Amino acid sequence: MRQRRLPFFIPHEGCPHRCSFCDQRAISGAQRPPTPQQITAQCEALLPASGAGADFEIAFFGGSFTAIPRGQMIAFLEAAQPFLDAGRAAGIRISTRPDAIDPEILALLARYRVRAVELGAQSMDDAVLAQNGRGHTAQQTRQAAQLLRESGFSLGLQMMIGLPGEGEPVRAARETALALAALQPDTVRIYPALVLRGTQMEEWMRQGRYRPLTVEQAVAAAAPLLALFEAKGIRVIRVGLQDDGALRQNLVAGPYHPAFRQLCEGALYRTALARALDGRSPGAYRVAVAPGRVSDAVGQQRGNLAYFAARGYRLKVVSCAALAGREIRLEEEHQRECEETTCF
Ligand code: SF4
Repeated sequence: MRQRRLPFFIPHEGCPHRCSFCDQRAISGAQRPPTPQQITAQCEALLPASGAGADFEIAFFGGSFTAIPRGQMIAFLEAAQPFLDAGRAAGIRISTRPDAIDPEILALLARYRVRAVELGAQSMDDAVLAQNGRGHTAQQTRQAAQLLRESGFSLGLQMMIGLPGEGEPVRAARETALALAALQPDTVRIYPALVLRGTQMEEWMRQGRYRPLTVEQAVAAAAPLLALFEAKGIRVIRVGLQDDGALRQNLVAGPYHPAFRQLCEGALYRTALARALDGRSPGAYRVAVAPGRVSDAVGQQRGNLAYFAARGYRLKVVSCAALAGREIRLEEEHQRECEETTCF
């Protein structure tokens, strides 16, 4: 069942300091955390009716939830309880830091029916973590992930690409992704590092000590990760930051694109199409893809069609119910297998 979320942003609550890239107020637009009364009012207004919330989660994002003062944390959790009791939501999701997880806090979260915890891992390279002021190590991420899994929580991991100190972005992203995949998370989020106003990263950029990735570089690093995680059965629930207006106002530089995930999907299809066309003569081809994947295969602004047209391949992309995931078939081989269908 696909989960829907009612998110509450608690910008920087519980954070022991500010990481080099982070401004949660700029990302979420929220200036201060909600009060428990505001949580109650929003749940009342926005959650489905009693008994109809099996696919809904109440989520607390944008800070280090398990590191905020205990009384404040419990007040947030208690505000959500009546809505879980009434079946208007099925559970609670939080995000926090790897070094703010221990058995005692997990027992408390379980009592309040938190069922999913997302850890901001960001990188699995200790030098990169230190340079960006994260204040935890890769080993702490491993330990926290293991504790969460052993305690029965759904585990989410968040990673960034293009952080200061990372070196070659495709290799660095792959190394962190492989290390995170080994922790067997249920979900992953991938965020290209953006330079936001007022952050340490902005200062480094202005001093010439940091150069953000271009959109093309970020896509080249992020796209293979989608395939890497999915091949291991790990759901990638977000690629790229979402803009609700506040982000772009505070964006100084970096690989922001409103449809970043679709760019990554297009890049994966371009690679797959190039492989499928390898050795074939230039000409006109029909390409079948799984339902709902035509626009990904065609690419943003029909970029993949233009790319292959410039090389002599005129492609027409159609949807075929016999295909799944990112499978593709070129016309002749597909027609042989599926003559009875109406794909072509
Ligand atoms: S990245 Fe996480 S821990 Fe660091 S300042 Fe932002 S919310 Fe706090």
